[in-house]
Amino acid sequence: MNTIAQDLTGRVAVITGASSGMGRATALLLASRGARVALLARRKDALEQLAADIRAQGGTALAIPTDVTDPASVEAAAAAVLAEFGNADLVFNNAGLMLPGAIGAQPQREWETQIDLNVTGAMRVIQAFVPQLEAAAAQGKVVDLINTSSIASQYVYGYFAVYSATKAFVSHLTRHLRLELGPKNIRVSVIEPGITETELQGHFTFQGAIDWLANAAQSIEFLKAEDIAATVGFIVSMPKHVNMQQIVIMPTREGI
Ligand code: NDP
Repeated sequence: MNTIAQDLTGRVAVITGASSGMGRATALLLASRGARVALLARRKDALEQLAADIRAQGGTALAIPTDVTDPASVEAAAAAVLAEFGNADLVFNNAGLMLPGAIGAQPQREWETQIDLNVTGAMRVIQAFVPQLEAAAAQGKVVDLINTSSIASQYVYGYFAVYSATKAFVSHLTRHLRLELGPKNIRVSVIEPGITETELQGHFTFQGAIDWLANAAQSIEFLKAEDIAATVGFIVSMPKHVNMQQIVIMPTREGI
């Protein structure tokens, strides 16, 4: 395929973090363009509602309640995708959590959870689905693995040390994966968004970050989840020989 492929009919997309924000918006976009979408996150009700919405619009969706920090849960999700849709050929590895906090004072659970989810969880998804991506590539399909990192992977923000480091892992991992998987015809990309209006910031407990966010919202029009979905849509529409390795996407008024 050497042209821009707006029509995604025939593709099998797995989206983690599909119950809200960027994952949800991306699932809606990919399904509207013909991909069959597997929706992974923990909240069953939200996934089932999204799947129903997609079906009502003529799309094909499967809700698979999954905790990506649980190896058995991720393996079961991979098996369910294979059984229902065949091999995944598009994985949007997107589930994540951001909990700013002061080093030495942040509750242990908060920094641990970010590492468990953003690093280990992301790796579990990759390990579980790469065999399917390899099988799809071997069949000659266009194949994408897209990881969600953050602008925080590149810049230094006060009290975001652990979160930023988890996203630096994701960005650097992506470079290595592209080297390893590219020769197998698997495209590997990372998206590094700036601040985006989703549920992510609703989990903050650190007052300094809550205040910073309120202040930022006064001066910046945040990105929308749909802006990230459009970016995923752009990446997967590229001709088969084109790998968009890294996309940084920022609100126009977010200065860094
Ligand atoms: P949301 O909070 O809206 O979405 C996060 C998603 O991750 C939810 O669907 C949540 O679903 C899922 N999730 C959380 N924990 C788990 C788990 N253990 N297993 C499976 N799924 C889980 O935020 P965003 O859409 O903003 O976040 C998407 C990605 O974007 C994250 O990786 C985030 O770090 C990154 N990002 C966000 C930015 C922003 O400003 N919003 C900026 C840059 C990057 P559930 O609770 O149902 O499990």
